[in-house]
Amino acid sequence: MNVNKVLTKDYENKTLSRSGKNKANTKPIQTQTNPIKANKMPKQTQFKAKQSQFQRQKNGGACCFVYTIRYDIPDMLTKDLAICIRALDYSETSQIVTLFIRATGKIKAIAKGSKRPKSAFDGPIEIFSCGKIVFSDSTKEKLATLTEFEQQPGFTHQSDNLFAFNCCLLGTELLSSLTNDYDPHPQLFDSFLQFLQNTNETRDALHASRDTLALLILFQLALLKEVGLQPILNACINCKNNFSTDWSEVYFSSLANGLICRDCEASFPDKIRLKKNAAGCLANLKRIAESNEKTLKEVEKILIHHFTNTLGRPPKMAKHISKS
Ligand SMILES: [Zn+2]
Repeated sequence: MNVNKVLTKDYENKTLSRSGKNKANTKPIQTQTNPIKANKMPKQTQFKAKQSQFQRQKNGGACCFVYTIRYDIPDMLTKDLAICIRALDYSETSQIVTLFIRATGKIKAIAKGSKRPKSAFDGPIEIFSCGKIVFSDSTKEKLATLTEFEQQPGFTHQSDNLFAFNCCLLGTELLSSLTNDYDPHPQLFDSFLQFLQNTNETRDALHASRDTLALLILFQLALLKEVGLQPILNACINCKNNFSTDWSEVYFSSLANGLICRDCEASFPDKIRLKKNAAGCLANLKRIAESNEKTLKEVEKILIHHFTNTLGRPPKMAKHISKS
């Protein structure tokens, strides 16, 4: 089974890249003989700048310890695009939000005063609020501070179509469960934004629920790919024979992470039998757009089964999709 290989490789890469970042952060602290208590964890970029200045002067024979210690270092502000994936009231006027940020990944931030009539957040922040943000960077140990949110209109009205709203909630739940904090996924961000936009646009279409289901399936497959769990859907994962509509029986094994042919199915006790149309959809994603709702429901059932196995529990929103 190659799932573990993919997973291990993926995590190894992430660990390596993180340790690189951490190293950059610890160096400046060592250079301070008497760090300022009020700002124990200064921000990376600014600290780097001060360090190089310090080193240049030190190399030139001058010492600037006093310079580094005397001034407080303001928080570094970062501008980026973000989508709110969770919003909780913190006080009468403030919220704690979980944001999926294009170049940063998932973070938690406090939005002080976001519920006030006049604020830098364009009103209270709701789930699926999307737009340009400014936030002060943080460490994993403490909340970031959101200072601005230029909310794009038209992203928070999906609640008037319950099925589309639930599909967006399921997509959000899966994204949140399968990504780590401060783990950037710019391509996944773009796919997620596209998914929310398209779902919003198809709500008045003739076959709105079919279209929405197709968008959800494509987003879920994009999510699996982006987090390194892409299933093999164009061939039998065991004997590598390419999928063909001539296969008399087709199965999907969540543990093996892909399709299984009839000759191999006996070795995979967790397999689920697929109807040919559903298997055809998975093997050729272009067919998803033209498939009927019944077929898409079967494909979604398989995916929910697969996410349940992957997460070790059923996604909370799954029951709202499968019963509709
Ligand atoms: Zn096979």
